Amino acid sequence: MSICPEYQDLMAGVVDETLSPEEQARAEQHLSMCVRCASEVRELRATRRLLAALPQEETSPLFVPRLRERLAAPPPSVWGRLAAWTGEPRLALQLAAAGAAVLLVVGAVTWRHMPVPPQPNRNQSYATQPYSSGDPELDAFVQECISRHESNQANRMLWHDADHVMAVASQAR
Ligand SMILES: [Zn+2]
Repeated sequence: MSICPEYQDLMAGVVDETLSPEEQARAEQHLSMCVRCASEVRELRATRRLLAALPQEETSPLFVPRLRERLAAPPPSVWGRLAAWTGEPRLALQLAAAGAAVLLVVGAVTWRHMPVPPQPNRNQSYATQPYSSGDPELDAFVQECISRHESNQANRMLWHDADHVMAVASQAR
């Protein structure tokens, strides 16, 4: 729901109760015919009533001039905002360093958990190269491990070399 574009000023006047008698009459005529505007004005009035019911906060006499000053000033840099927020440049520096450290850790963890992109040639060599430990049962188990992990992209990084597979296989037996 939204107010008809050509009636926006008039409807705002209705909500604010600032219309002249003629304008008010024109607004009411439109409201009697337009469901969209009528519903929107009803909501805006309800919101206004809620806001009016809130306790009024006294602002400092400096509030408005300070706000104007801030709005006129160019937006501060991230560094400036951090320093302003903490009220102390040294603390801002520490926070910035902590932020960088967090980014590094998150980056490292993400990097470690990133699935290794498929490397067909390398894996193909596993699939076609027979391993021999001299123990047929162990060889079969190793081959099974390899073929199982061939189908699991995320685990490929764990299976870089045959020695590792052999070690795991020996432990699993
Ligand atoms: Zn309308």
